[in-house]
Amino acid sequence: MRTRKGIPTDQDLEALNETLPVLPAKASGLCVICLDEVSSGESVRELTCQHIFHAECLDTWWQRSARSRSTSIREISCPTCRQRHSLERPNSGNGEVILEVTV
Ligand SMILES: [Zn+2]
Ligand SMILES: [Zn+2]
Repeated sequence: MRTRKGIPTDQDLEALNETLPVLPAKASGLCVICLDEVSSGESVRELTCQHIFHAECLDTWWQRSARSRSTSIREISCPTCRQRHSLERPNSGNGEVILEVTV
């Protein structure tokens, strides 16, 4: 069994896709991960802090930060504002998004 910490499993990916679905960009902007332009209509993930990134870039970022132990695998920290977003699916009856902000 391969359950090494920091390596995303299919379930982790599923959680990511459910929490931060890949959507076509509504507007253009800058992806701070690759420092390239995000064109309108490209596949992006938008965090709840409203920062957008290329879906591919954010996935790479997520896996890298999980490996480098700065965040847990079920968390993503925004490359722009460092806000942390939980990738845990809200359980029934609790639709709140848990945001952990470290100061
Ligand atoms: Zn990018
Ligand atoms: Zn942000």
